[in-house]
Amino acid sequence: MEFSENKRLLSASLLIEYWYCPRFIYFMNVLGVQQYEEKRLKVRLGREVHIRKALQPEYLRKKLGVIKQEKNVYLSDPGYGICGILDEILFFDEGKISLLDYKFAYNSHKFKTQFLQNVFYSLLIERNYNTGIDHCYIVYTRERNKLVRYDIKEKDKKEVIQAINDVHHIISTGYFPGGTGIKKRCPDCTYKNICIR
Ligand code: SF4
Repeated sequence: MEFSENKRLLSASLLIEYWYCPRFIYFMNVLGVQQYEEKRLKVRLGREVHIRKALQPEYLRKKLGVIKQEKNVYLSDPGYGICGILDEILFFDEGKISLLDYKFAYNSHKFKTQFLQNVFYSLLIERNYNTGIDHCYIVYTRERNKLVRYDIKEKDKKEVIQAINDVHHIISTGYFPGGTGIKKRCPDCTYKNICIR
């Protein structure tokens, strides 16, 4: 599904809400009921911590063969209807490009959502730089800046594109989606009193 330029551009953080529970998108963006402010503060603090611990260009040049970096890059794509600020874009020989993302997390506590978020950013690189992305890097700032490479397959891109389309559908039509399949998330949910289960 392609979106016209006057459609709203979705951010990765909105996709993260969708992956936690699709109904968050409905309550937040169709009904306009916001979540607790504390949750947003935690996300913001995590981001500030990882910005302070960026890897040095010399380290990336020696370890990965990076020839150029761009930091805090805003990209958008009206085709998918998405946008985001990418921590770093890495450039290699022969025109190859990859994403480097900092996570305020431990490598041992991997979450699929973190990987899918990077697939989302890689789609933005693909559309803006007219290239194919087949891997990305995550730096785990709570584990002494451990650098880990992840392969990105076509099925991962399809999964993220499907999620993007689902979120656009909910927002543009007011469709009420099913809730999360992980029931233990519901007792502490901001929306538990208005959510029909
Ligand atoms: S109560 Fe459960 S299903 Fe409903 S919005 Fe919250 S997490 Fe989703």
